Amino acid sequence: MTDILKTDLLKKVRIVLVNTTHPGNIGGVARAMKNMGLEKLYLVEPKEFPSHRAFQRAANALDILDNAVIVNTLDEALVDCGLVVGTSARSRGIPWPMLNPRECGEKAVSEATEHEVALVFGREDRGLTNEELQRCTYHVHIPTNPDYSSLNLAAAVQVLTYETRMAALLAEEGTLPDLNDWDIPPAKHDALERYYEHLEQALVDIDFHNRDNPRQTMARLRRLYGRIRLDEMELAILRGMLTSIQRAARQLKQAVNGNSESEK
Ligand code: SAH
Repeated sequence: MTDILKTDLLKKVRIVLVNTTHPGNIGGVARAMKNMGLEKLYLVEPKEFPSHRAFQRAANALDILDNAVIVNTLDEALVDCGLVVGTSARSRGIPWPMLNPRECGEKAVSEATEHEVALVFGREDRGLTNEELQRCTYHVHIPTNPDYSSLNLAAAVQVLTYETRMAALLAEEGTLPDLNDWDIPPAKHDALERYYEHLEQALVDIDFHNRDNPRQTMARLRRLYGRIRLDEMELAILRGMLTSIQRAARQLKQAVNGNSESEK
């Protein structure tokens, strides 16, 4: 289950390099991509490609270079993309919606479930032009030292593809745990139902919840716990906590009643 999700999402995020001058950088980018599980490389008018130096720098990521798509314009590289993010080593022109690298990874992964995503990188000497940046929905800046802000092209690709991979891994964690890998069996339906009854009673006892005006509280709590998929041990801990909370509430009420009795 998990493998399908991870690889499928990363495959839908393409790296677009515009007018790259040094073929060694293209090789470095291929290697960075393959390390992070991305596959699609688009080259917009590279100065020199295919090139021996690109293949040298790519180490074992030769398949990425073999499958690289070479196009004449940025628009051709972005055809069918639902999200385009442009990179910039510094801010310029009019302000544009910005993402930080983490947000960029999260957005790329969440949108990759719906459509193709492109991360666009510029020339080594002068980055992307304003016209190219304006073709992007968002801009992303890697927060480097302001006095020395420009990363090597392959290093910039490494940072953003790492964030994309991390977002994919976290997305996996957010899905249901693979119960075969879990140390404790999942709580069963009837135990969960008894827990919800206990929870509701405890919430009534502490005057948090009113059965005559329940609103959506119990439905929302069921949904919350459903997202977590409680195991038997966790459920036992929660039941124990509720029992203690109820006892404390009872003692408090008795103490208050006792005081008011003695004041009579
Ligand atoms: N002198 C150029 C820097 C180009 S660096 C300029 O000032 O724009 C080459 C490419 O690496 C950039 O176009 C961008 O795609 C990427 N890059 C380098 N540093 C970056 C940073 N801090 N944040 C985002 N992308 C960066």
